[in-house]
Amino acid sequence: MFELNETHDPALKSWIASANDPGDFPLQNLPFGVFRRKGQNEAFRVGVAIGDQVLDISAAQTAGVFSGPAARAAAACSAPALNAFMAMGPAAWSALRFALSQILRQNSPLADRLHGCLVAQNHAEHALPAHIGDYSDFYASIHHATSVGRLMRPDNPLLPNYKWVPIAYHGRGSSIRVSGQEFRRPIGQILPPGAQAPVVVPSKRIDYELELGVFIGAGNELGDRIAIGDAEAHVFGLCLLNDWSARDIQAWEYQPLGPFLAKSFATTISPWIVTLEALAPYRLPWNHPSGDPQPLSYLDSPMVRSAGAIDIELEVLIETARMRRAGEAPQTLSRSNFRHAYWSVFQMLTHHTLNGCNLASGDLLGSGTQSGPTAAEAGSLLELTVGGKQPLMLANGETRSFLDDGDAVIMRGWCEKADYARIGFGELVGRVMPADGA
Ligand code: CA
Repeated sequence: MFELNETHDPALKSWIASANDPGDFPLQNLPFGVFRRKGQNEAFRVGVAIGDQVLDISAAQTAGVFSGPAARAAAACSAPALNAFMAMGPAAWSALRFALSQILRQNSPLADRLHGCLVAQNHAEHALPAHIGDYSDFYASIHHATSVGRLMRPDNPLLPNYKWVPIAYHGRGSSIRVSGQEFRRPIGQILPPGAQAPVVVPSKRIDYELELGVFIGAGNELGDRIAIGDAEAHVFGLCLLNDWSARDIQAWEYQPLGPFLAKSFATTISPWIVTLEALAPYRLPWNHPSGDPQPLSYLDSPMVRSAGAIDIELEVLIETARMRRAGEAPQTLSRSNFRHAYWSVFQMLTHHTLNGCNLASGDLLGSGTQSGPTAAEAGSLLELTVGGKQPLMLANGETRSFLDDGDAVIMRGWCEKADYARIGFGELVGRVMPADGA
């Protein structure tokens, strides 16, 4: 649906010098977010990351640099959230991206008008990019599902529905925050090993989950379905997502209806949404391994087969309080890639509406923990420490089975391909604080 076009040309340079340096935000990326100047009591507004700057879309509109469809799209960005712009659909998104690519290019005659529309990213703070009305979290990595299943059911790690249905649960939208989120270690009902009755105590097994978030563009009416052939047109873009999880609360509560308080205390997303159009060069063929069931027809299409997967390299790092005090750099815990997902973003979206469930602009889908095929590519501590039984030794001598108070978890994501620009998602950071009363 999003064909490669001149906005993906790797030779393009910007008059903003930092956009031409290696980094996440070259001219070929142009991710959207919501920001304001740090420490200023001013309204949040829509911006686009370019190099180490943010371009204020409304200020650029006022400067008169947009016309036609791009101007109408920019007008929808004069809000503290992206929902109205997301609802306009791919033609509007594409028109604004094309205009941004032109006005930010080297030798653009409009550069002089735009200098006053830039805010340095290190002088900006973010709000959630959209009002998230609903949030569903999928389980699309078969490697994660298998290794977590093995911890709970050694003889039967993967349940028989997994290869047929994109599994998900309905998550909690109200506790999603943007990068920088700090949250108190949750208290919950926990069954101590060997005990007959649960106790109510702070969780001892706080974990992260390395995920992608998918923002819905235009939604669908209640009762209507989004066909797989139309699914791309409903995906605005992707962000990084950390689905913080309290494993001891989860172990006691999850049967028979799935996660509840083990997940709903905090979810963190990156401030920038990389659009599906920006991701066009990094799409890959999707398939199930031979011997596995092939997708039911409503989840299958030539687009899914030729370009249903997305090549996004993922990394998760830890910065403990001790590392922070010592000025040490965060330490990588694992790396993975979204290309390993068992289900495509488009299959998740289409399956979500199979029963007529309505999606709305700004709704968020989580991809599920993106663990790769090897143990070292696991996207959670639960997997990396084999259920807490094999603690990790950090370079400074600290050990971790699960997260301690003061630990910050940092997630990064980026796309690289020969003959294309490298684009990235920026950083997602969140921190565990002591439990209430602790
Ligand atoms: Ca999850």
